[in-house]
Parts: sequence; structure tokens; C-alpha cells
Amino acid sequence: MRCLLLLCLLFTCAQSQALDRFKVEGYLLPNGLQVLMKPGDERGHVAIRLVVGVGFDDFPCNQRELPHLLEHLLFSGIDGSGEGGLEERMQALGGEWNAFTSDSDTTFVIEAPAANQRKVLDLLLEVVTQTHIDQKALDISRRIVEREDGGHYSHLQRWLDKQGVGHAASDQLATELGLKCSERSPVRDMTLEQVEAVRKDWYAPNNMTLIIVGGLDKLMPAYLERTWASLAAIKPTDHPDIPVTLHSALYERNLTHGWLGDGAKLHWFFPEPALDDQVPDAALDLVQVYMEWALYKELRLDHELSYGPWSQREALGDTGLLSLNADLDRADVDRARTLVANMIARLKKDGLEGATFERLRQAAISRQAWSVQGNSQLADFYWNALPTYEKGRFEDPTRSLKKVTLAQADAAMRQVFASRGYVRIEQPLLSYDQLYSLIVAGAVLLVLLLLGWATWRLKHR
Ligand SMILES: [Zn+2]
Repeated sequence: MRCLLLLCLLFTCAQSQALDRFKVEGYLLPNGLQVLMKPGDERGHVAIRLVVGVGFDDFPCNQRELPHLLEHLLFSGIDGSGEGGLEERMQALGGEWNAFTSDSDTTFVIEAPAANQRKVLDLLLEVVTQTHIDQKALDISRRIVEREDGGHYSHLQRWLDKQGVGHAASDQLATELGLKCSERSPVRDMTLEQVEAVRKDWYAPNNMTLIIVGGLDKLMPAYLERTWASLAAIKPTDHPDIPVTLHSALYERNLTHGWLGDGAKLHWFFPEPALDDQVPDAALDLVQVYMEWALYKELRLDHELSYGPWSQREALGDTGLLSLNADLDRADVDRARTLVANMIARLKKDGLEGATFERLRQAAISRQAWSVQGNSQLADFYWNALPTYEKGRFEDPTRSLKKVTLAQADAAMRQVFASRGYVRIEQPLLSYDQLYSLIVAGAVLLVLLLLGWATWRLKHR
């Protein structure tokens, strides 16, 4: 009987631990490094994320690529064996790694066998502290970053960037609104001194968070005290303010994307309003979900114009944009646009439909329960939700979803659609019909020229 009781207790314990993924053990090492540890379901594996609080937004436009360049440089090698030798060491530990630079952070992402987690962390610490960066490594990394950015930055590319050719529609709008840089930052001119300065000013323990999820080593806290705690803290650099002045943008623009094709994309962007204190931000999440369904009904089910229309929320600087998007035939763009405009007008008149809202909200809440699976996804969730971590807990997104009332979502929807928004239509330079007409016109012109030339020759013989 006691055995059974113990078993029951163990089972409920394990289950509640597995269910409460928002509760995470966290503490600061004496040097300010934040450590978050969570036992995961897969015990043979650990997912490690080292989040360094430096990203593109910490630099002016002409230096934005600096943290990205440094991220690449940190993989150039610790000793004489270079990049290859470093990779071999990670392979020998059975792990894999990668790194990403975003607007707000630079993150090292590692998946490794649980048995080697301390050795893997040793290697990561070496990478952060011991990597010697020289001119040769800088040249190689500059070329890689340039290639990732779409090749060498020619004068033509610079001019095209300014015209908004070939940019994703939201990037183009963000540039026009003054929320994004209009030109790429010239990686070619970046120097060793600049890169080292980024490392010195930002790669400090009090600007880092180490997340470990999975089969945790019992000795981990003692290990971290011995190793990572030896990193010296610095006086942190403040993150610069993101510009808030919005420039005015054209209401409507056509963007050229590719050379030839009959497809097109319609994007309709609406700046998100600042909501009342009582209305949670999740109200806008629910407006977005509602609009995705409304678009699907209107454009796919009722009129068969678009296979997978979608709606999206994006943060650009400190401004949020909610967009309605559809992949279309070029010939259907105007019709789809009128349909979407009428749909918005109907929503503003009648409001959100109660039963649909409730169904979509329940689905969004349910999705939260199953959408994050396994150690790696959990680690990624913590990485993205870091700003919400407080007193040993991450914010549970379902709580705010549950709080939103129909009236609040309805009010948010009306505020979003109070503005006219910005329409961006992406399509290739020429449709097949246009190309065909051009070829025919060219052929006719050629025949006429030949005839003229032949007549002239006959007359002047
Ligand atoms: Zn890169």
C-alpha cells in the first residue's frame, strides 16, 4: 500500500513538473551571469542557449553588422587548428552548434548528449573567451557575412535597395517609415578594432543568460561556480533608444519581385494601436487569428482567389504592424483587394462574431499546450520569452488569452482598422502575357526595319 502511495505521489509529481513548463529554476552567478535550468523529458540530451544581450539594434545603420560579424569570428578557432579543429572538438563530444544574431541578441544554440554537457560548456566558454581574432579570420568572416547578405554590395544593389526592389514588403515599408536602415551596413570596411570593441563592451557575464534544458547534471551549479563564474563583469553598455519618429509612407506601392511570372502577393499593413491599460496585448493576437480565418473564408472558400491567405503581427522597432496577406494570380489583385476592403467594412459595421471568436480563442489556448515539445523547443521558448521571466516563472501566454473579452477584441479590431493602412503589391517585373506581347512587338519591329532597309537598298541600286 505504501509502495502504491509512493508511486502515485511520484507520478503526480513528475506530471505536474512536466506540465508546469513556466516554472524554471534561475539564479545569478556572482559575476551577474543569469542561469536558467529546467529538467526536460528527454534525459539523454541537453539543449543549451547562451543569449548575449547585443544585436543589430545596438548599432547605428552603418555598423549594424558588427555583432553578426563577431558572431561568425567566434567560430574561427581557439588554437592553431582553426575553424576545422573547433568543429572536430564539438563532433567528438557528439554535439552540434550554431549561432544567430537578431535585432536584440546574439545567441549560441547547442544540442548535445547530456553526458557531455560540462565538456560542451567548457568548449563554449573557451570560444567566448579564448578565440584569437586576426586579420585573416576577419577577411574570411567578412566575406561570409557579405554572402549571407546577398553578395558583394555593388552600386547597383545600393541603388536598388533605396528603390525597394526585391525587398520583402514589410522590410520595404519599415524602411519607408524610418523604422529600418535604408542601406545595408558595409561589412567590407569593418576593422579588427571595431570587432574587439564589441566583444569587450558586450560579451560580459552580466549581459548573458545561460539556458540549459534536458537531462541536467547534478553537479552543474558547482561546475558553473568553478568555471563560468570566473568571467569578469563589466560596466554594462546601455542599449540605445530605438528611433520613434515615424516618417510618412506612401499609401500604396507596387514592388517588383523577380523578373517573370503570373503570381502576385497582396499585403495590407495596419499599424497597431496603443491599447488601454486594461486591455491585454493578447487582444491583438486574437484579432490576428480572427483575421486569418476571415481571410481564409473570404478569399479561399468563398471566392477561390488565394490558396493560403494569412495574417501576421510583426514588431518593427517599437512599432507593431498587423498585416493581411494573400498569394494571388496577378490578374486577381484588384478583385481581391476590393473583397478584403469590403470584408473590413463589414467587420467594422457588425463587429466580431461571438461564436467564431470563442472557437478561435479556445483553439489558440489549446495550441499553447502542445506547440512547445521537447527540450530544444522548450529552450527556444525560454530564449524568446526571456523578458517575461520573473521570480522563477515565465509568463503563461494562455493566461492573457483567457482574459480577453469579446468586447475588448472588438474594440482592438476597430482601432486597428481605423487607419487606412498601407497596401503593398509584390509582383515580378513582367507577366508571361506581357513578355509574349513584347516578343511579338519586337518581331514586328524587326520585320518592318528589314522591309524598310530592303526597300531603301532597291531604290538606291
Ligand atoms: Zn551569419
